[in-house]
Amino acid sequence: MKINHHYLNLPENYLFSEVAKRTREFQACFPDVSIIKLSIGDVSRPLPGVVVQAMKRACTEMGHGKTFRGYGPEIGYPWLRDAIAKHYREQFQVELDVDEIIISDGAKSDLSNLLDIFDHNATVAMCDPVYPVYLESNVMLGRKPQFFYATAINNFLPLPDEHITADIIYLCNPANPTGVCYSRAQLKQWVDFARQRQSVIIYDAAYACFINDSNLPHSIYEIDGARECAIEVNSFSKMAGFTGVRCGYTIVPKNLCTSDGVSLNQLWRRRQTTKFNGVSYIVQRGAEAALTPVGLQSINKNLAYYRRNVCLIRKTLDQLHWSYVGGIHSPYVWVRCPGYRTAWECFDFLLKTTGIVCTPGVGFGTAGESYIRLTGFNTYANTRTACQRLLALQNQKMHE
Ligand code: PLP
Repeated sequence: MKINHHYLNLPENYLFSEVAKRTREFQACFPDVSIIKLSIGDVSRPLPGVVVQAMKRACTEMGHGKTFRGYGPEIGYPWLRDAIAKHYREQFQVELDVDEIIISDGAKSDLSNLLDIFDHNATVAMCDPVYPVYLESNVMLGRKPQFFYATAINNFLPLPDEHITADIIYLCNPANPTGVCYSRAQLKQWVDFARQRQSVIIYDAAYACFINDSNLPHSIYEIDGARECAIEVNSFSKMAGFTGVRCGYTIVPKNLCTSDGVSLNQLWRRRQTTKFNGVSYIVQRGAEAALTPVGLQSINKNLAYYRRNVCLIRKTLDQLHWSYVGGIHSPYVWVRCPGYRTAWECFDFLLKTTGIVCTPGVGFGTAGESYIRLTGFNTYANTRTACQRLLALQNQKMHE
């Protein structure tokens, strides 16, 4: 039997499955400990009411012969693509042609499926630490990516340099896991670099909704020249609580062409129409409702809720004198492990002493060896309890 042997080069478990496994094992040994997860990047706020109403209406339509719908357009209904174009125009002053927007079941699938439209021998570069999906989907294809490192030396915001020679460059902004965000000027350096080298940037904007400053770029298309070199992937997951509902979109500008004039937009549409049968009508109606003024109002309330959590985490870390970055334009805080621990040692230490589950930074790459990631996605009550437990550590010896 001939399998794709590249799969054997992957770690045995996906990072979050490993964290879940260790947490389960700990809970089995200590059933009385109340565990608080500040680890996985899943939302906890319920869907906006207007989204639920829209999905209920769509469901009712599906139950009547006259309004029933079967397969929809593989690339998404035009009214949702229109709503996204309008959102980009009004919120970020970015003009998109609706044909440039292709709806999907979320960013994770698109971030890996996009590789289908590139040459098998195309080279790829990405940050270390990084959202594991970029790396693992390339490893599955037998690629060995180049890395640029996010460290304290570059304020966790690596910029292009001559060592990066890849055809495809993944950028995540605001970054997962470090929670930091590029300025317009920094992002412009990446855009100029990609254009000069004729590389393509796959820009993951899944956390752009957390940016709290209009001077920072919410979309890469706010940067001059990005339409010639960047594909933007975005999602309703973190923004509108769609992690379990599933809806995202990828923007492939019409200007983005190979040197011999082949349109990447055409290739991506061709890929999707063959391999994907579209997102459900009900879900797309929900996503459309999320972008209405009422939807956006509810979304902003939910985002404010997570910001309050993450602010509390930052305050707690300040009190503990633990060093960290992120958590301002992001739900993530990237924390230097206290007491010279490695990431997994810190994971075990926090679990045993506080019942808090974090994500070990090394799971995102070698540069994360001395870091953990905490998130503001839990409930406020749980976050507050977690912070109280962390503060109680002040009275314990941290260097044991
Ligand atoms: N991109 C990043 C950086 C993420 O952290 C995540 C999920 O945690 C995703 C994309 C996946 O988003 P979606 O739920 O739309 O698949």
